[in-house]
Amino acid sequence: MNKKSLGDAPHSKTETFHAKVGRDMPHDHIELAQTPNGELGPRCKSCGTRLTFGEAMVVDRDYFCWKHYVEKTGADTATVEIQRETRFWKE
Ligand SMILES: [Zn+2]
Repeated sequence: MNKKSLGDAPHSKTETFHAKVGRDMPHDHIELAQTPNGELGPRCKSCGTRLTFGEAMVVDRDYFCWKHYVEKTGADTATVEIQRETRFWKE
């Protein structure tokens, strides 16, 4: 049931999952919860917010909402968008 959601995940998350396949499940230790729209998903490790796999950001083997992902990684929303846009237009 999770496979469909994982397939929709952005590349960075997919790579993380692929690296773990065949060994232990990446979210064995993650408490899954149902989001309001009925989708099963992880919880943010910091605030416990229910997330879909599409929303959840992965750091190592933990899931975070975008806000805490930014806090955790120091990534900045604006920076990420600029990098993406720059790369896109240069290619
Ligand atoms: Zn959070």
